[in-house]
Amino acid sequence: MIDALTVLALILVLAHFSFPLAYYHYLKKKWLNKPWDVRRDPRYKPRVSIIVPTYNEVEFIRKKLNDIYVQDYPRGLIEVIIADSGSEDGTLEAVKEWMLDHTDLNLKLMVDPGRKGKLYALLKALNYISPDSEIVVFTDADAFWEPSALSKMVSYFVDPNVGSVTACIYYTDVDIHEEAYRNYYNVVRVAESKIYATPVHNGPFLAIRADLLMKHGLPDFPGSDDSSFGSFIAFIGYRAIQVDDIVVKEPIRGSQVRRRIRRAYHLIINFMTTKKYAKRRGVYKYNSAFERIWRIEWWLHIVNPWLLLISVTLLVLSAVSGSLIALALIGAGSALLVLNIYRVWILQQVYLIVAMLRSSWTKEVMWRR
Ligand code: GDP
Ligand code: MN
Repeated sequence: MIDALTVLALILVLAHFSFPLAYYHYLKKKWLNKPWDVRRDPRYKPRVSIIVPTYNEVEFIRKKLNDIYVQDYPRGLIEVIIADSGSEDGTLEAVKEWMLDHTDLNLKLMVDPGRKGKLYALLKALNYISPDSEIVVFTDADAFWEPSALSKMVSYFVDPNVGSVTACIYYTDVDIHEEAYRNYYNVVRVAESKIYATPVHNGPFLAIRADLLMKHGLPDFPGSDDSSFGSFIAFIGYRAIQVDDIVVKEPIRGSQVRRRIRRAYHLIINFMTTKKYAKRRGVYKYNSAFERIWRIEWWLHIVNPWLLLISVTLLVLSAVSGSLIALALIGAGSALLVLNIYRVWILQQVYLIVAMLRSSWTKEVMWRR
């Protein structure tokens, strides 16, 4: 006989998996390959400010500056601001040396004495952009651009509805976990962008219309980071899109588990706070297309992981009290962990739950690599 606990567990686990799968397939079939309804023009060449936050980046900073230097964009229209938080590994010396060899690129160096986190540095750097700059690009020191990255990125801003643009990120190293995660993630983000906007942006490369920044600022609440810039831009009434025609590559470095927990943590903070924040600031504008996307993503991040946890708990309880079916289901669910995509999904649910618990007692701003 199948007991009530097991039935309930089955219902929850089905709900947990079927909803995101259905959303993914709907986006992939219906939206992913649609043409963009965004006006683009390669002749649009506004002045741009590129902000690069750095903390101990001596290994990558020269390559980063070279990547910017060889962009197929008029060099005179580019300004670069390095926002450093007291690097101790020679990053500053490397930048200064590079500047001497490349005097035709406008580069400013902003140095904070102490480390107050990436977001703090990014927001502070906004005070240094020149007033006639039309687009602000935020990009990590370890994110490498193809030479056309900037010009492609800028061309999307011809459309006055576009408030921010982010790129898909690819990895220079092979990591099957990261690949499975990105495959799912990129399909969803790009397809949502074609509908209207996506609620999560990619810190390694994202650009925002400067006048929006100047007028409305950016999310600066505790625990927030650049991934929530997308939601904020969408909540103030502009399209926040992830495009698929720019190649940005990032090396995988440091502890991946720590990185994934941090990523989950910022996702949780974004879905719990950004909408309230926009409303509190009085800049919130209702948009039905984005509200639908937001509600689904909110559910997937904040509620859906718990369905899995509750379901597993019920199955364990039921197995302990003698249900063979529950035991078999636990066995089958565990066996599936050999499948990479399934394992990545389950781990992501664990990270989200850990992040949610963690966010309820601490708001972190700084992370070890
Ligand atoms: P990950 O790619 O998310 O794992 O994070 P990274 O360690 O690559 O950091 C992303 C970017 O933020 C890099 O350019 C770092 O140098 C920079 N960064 C990280 N922490 C700080 C900080 O405290 N201050 C500043 N100014 N930059 C930081
Ligand atoms: Mn990085």
